Amino acid sequence: MGKFYSVAIDGPAGAGKSTIAKALAKELGFHYVDTGAIYRTLGYFFNLIGIGPKDIDGITKYIDECVIEIEWDDEDGSQHMFLNEIDVSEEIRTPEISRIASTVSAHALVRERLLDMQRDVAKKHNVIMDGRDIGSVVLPRADVKFFLTASPEVRARRRFDELQAKGSKDSFEKVLKEVNDRDHADMTRAVAPLKQTKSHILVDTSDMTIEQVIAHMGSIVREKCKV
Ligand code: C5P
Repeated sequence: MGKFYSVAIDGPAGAGKSTIAKALAKELGFHYVDTGAIYRTLGYFFNLIGIGPKDIDGITKYIDECVIEIEWDDEDGSQHMFLNEIDVSEEIRTPEISRIASTVSAHALVRERLLDMQRDVAKKHNVIMDGRDIGSVVLPRADVKFFLTASPEVRARRRFDELQAKGSKDSFEKVLKEVNDRDHADMTRAVAPLKQTKSHILVDTSDMTIEQVIAHMGSIVREKCKV
């Protein structure tokens, strides 16, 4: 079996990970894997069945009832999330599910259950995988690891614009508070916290355009992965 390349992109919410990872994957012909969507699908499931995200007994009891599958669209490469065979790709994108996913993802049991699913994809494809702990836990031997970030204000502004475009009435202050709260939760949790390791290449996108970020990261991946 030939060697598959893997690129990890970690960083806080709203840093542009998914936009950049998607564009890079398309350019390089890699599979884009959005691992946040997996945690969101699990959070959506527990919300649906009325189990609170902190209720570890309920989570332990029902986690096996949640069958998650990932499929990629042949035409545009987009990732679709299936929960017990139903496509929930749209439903998992609300601010409420963001919060629930963040709380659910702090449990060691949850992280362990989702590990193989993430690693299996990287065994079968060249991947660009984005998340919080890809370079540190999921794919510690990734060929390239990036830590993508931007100031909280810049990230909140991007998220605010995105939500407004979808018709949301939330204020900028509310979105900024959510960004700060989620950063805090993701960075201070005991299991697999969001952190930049020595092997991550730091990319601060606060003052960069998307095109500049893609060109910069693309050239590093091409050099390391010979694609
Ligand atoms: O990236 P996204 O905002 O979709 O992720 C939702 C939540 O899932 C994050 O706030 C984070 O708590 C969690 N997550 C994680 N590990 C990952 C990806 C996401 O803990 N690899």
